[in-house]
Amino acid sequence: MTKPSDEAAATADCTQREGSQGHPADPRLDAPHSGGVSATIYDVGNVAHKPRATPAACIHNVQRQSSSSPLITNPKVVLLWWSTYFWDRHRTERDFYKAALSAFGNDPAFWNRLSEYGVTGGSYVGTIDLTRFGGPSASLSEQDITDALTFRFNNLTTPPDQDTIYAIMLPDGLSSAYDTMNSFIGHHQVYQYNGKPVYYAVVEYSSNTTQTLSVITHEIYEAATDPDGSTGYRDASGGEDEVGDFCNLQTMMIGMYPVQKVWSQKDCGCK
Ligand SMILES: [Zn+2]
Repeated sequence: MTKPSDEAAATADCTQREGSQGHPADPRLDAPHSGGVSATIYDVGNVAHKPRATPAACIHNVQRQSSSSPLITNPKVVLLWWSTYFWDRHRTERDFYKAALSAFGNDPAFWNRLSEYGVTGGSYVGTIDLTRFGGPSASLSEQDITDALTFRFNNLTTPPDQDTIYAIMLPDGLSSAYDTMNSFIGHHQVYQYNGKPVYYAVVEYSSNTTQTLSVITHEIYEAATDPDGSTGYRDASGGEDEVGDFCNLQTMMIGMYPVQKVWSQKDCGCK
């Protein structure tokens, strides 16, 4: 999920993660700058008389929580527009986001930053006009959102697939109740369509396009690496502990467009 500010994430639980919840501390943390070349780190038998360097504790411990968790290793990203808001007066914004996703969404540099979590690439595949109407109220329940997805999927010639991340762009004046309740500006979720999981994200409207791109990319990272929101790559303590959360709203440029940074456990930092 994306919070409006990263203050809470930056200060939360920084001291209690090492080896918590029964997950062994990651031996790679002994050498946070080793760039993954770790083979010799374990070969301590022949240096028994040298004091071993104190392992540098990393403030977070992102691990795959279950070896059978779903992962989207080569995501296809679709933008879905809620209501006609982006069709007419706000077509300029729509075109901006389409251009942005077309650029970084097809750039290996964007996806490579997730390679330590098994993501090998990804692509932007287009947009869908999700619904013509605003919704039953200004506050959308999760059921309202999945009902709209189901209605649209029922009318598409190709069914949804499990490698796609459906990023729903909400218009100004319409919010997800879940986001409002949690003070989020976006979240990702999964629901079942015809007995198969559909992974989607909800992006709250902002006129600040940098913030919006940060939210979109934050949720893409998390939907890819922790699709079901619990068993994929995350810190073991639960809550706001996915790879997007620790770098919330910190942005960097990929080509011409700002994207959010993502947590690297290997480097113990945002990149
Ligand atoms: Zn998040």
